[in-house]
Amino acid sequence: MTYFNILGTPDYAIETRSLSKVYYKHDSQPVEALKAVDLQIPRGSFFALLGPNGAGKSTLINILAGLVNNTSGSAAIWGHDAKTQMRVARRSIGVVPQELNIDPFFTPREMLETQAGLYGIPQHARRTSEILQAVGLSDKADSYARALSGGMRRRLLVGKAMVHSPPILVLDEPSAGVDVDLRRQLWDHVKQLNAEGTTILLTTHYLEEAESMCDTIAIINSGRMIACEPTMQLLTRLDAKEMLITVDQELDACPETLAIYRGELLKPRQLRVAYPPSRVTGGEIFAALAAINLGVVDIVTREPDLEHIFLNLTHASGAGGEYEVTG
Ligand code: ADP
Ligand code: MG
Repeated sequence: MTYFNILGTPDYAIETRSLSKVYYKHDSQPVEALKAVDLQIPRGSFFALLGPNGAGKSTLINILAGLVNNTSGSAAIWGHDAKTQMRVARRSIGVVPQELNIDPFFTPREMLETQAGLYGIPQHARRTSEILQAVGLSDKADSYARALSGGMRRRLLVGKAMVHSPPILVLDEPSAGVDVDLRRQLWDHVKQLNAEGTTILLTTHYLEEAESMCDTIAIINSGRMIACEPTMQLLTRLDAKEMLITVDQELDACPETLAIYRGELLKPRQLRVAYPPSRVTGGEIFAALAAINLGVVDIVTREPDLEHIFLNLTHASGAGGEYEVTG
């Protein structure tokens, strides 16, 4: 099996072929967490693995990290087989796990130093202070980790994953438990790493996060890859938006005229509609409301939730899908 091109660089930062994982548990049915997953993550990309809880994201990440054994298929990291060339494969990747397990009696500086030691990085080549600064923890460098907030712990784990300067950084659900300000700092840092050439893979169950950060999105559901394409292309293909509309009167049912937009009454004064932006404008929806003398007080548009996306991707053939708008 060849993973390298003629220049000796891998074609893909990460490549899986027919990767499968079955968890066997003594007290229940086996769980097929990954089903023949083929995934190719281009070098230098900012890649999202999007899927609901239980989809298999962490399983895939943990196989890459060498923490879980796959049942069949293969995974290559920077061109090195994750199983047969484990040592060199692991040097090419830094993984920030979903769980924030940090030894509370170590300081951030000690933690990075220990990690550098594990990778055999000599003292003079270590970048401990530089990394602490990059993840915004210089002033906490010598405090016990138990004094760090969730956001700081997450950033510390990002720092730890970067100690050996891997060309690939993987973040498993990095937004969990991170407040908004720190999340922005974390993203700024990760974006900069990407701009400098690091390939980023992140998992998330928010389309909005994947959409705003990533150039390519793969969607996984029940262990199966159901889409993988450039972000813009995927959004165009999904062609789905939702709008929350606050109206100026209390209603006891969704007006009939909104049925074609799958209208739903969420609260007495709040409606939700879903529509394909390529074929329906907000203006049309407002006109439908005006025609029945409903005034609009406020609107919020948002991306459809994952459930709607799956419906669209799995039941829709070609354009249209579940949004059959007539007239
Ligand atoms: P995600 O990260 O997308 O939420 P996971 O990879 O954690 O998904 O889980 C995928 C499936 O595998 C789920 O059904 C989960 O219950 C199961 N699973 C995950 N880890 C284990 C394990 N160690 N033992 C048994 N089943 C597991
Ligand atoms: Mg997970």
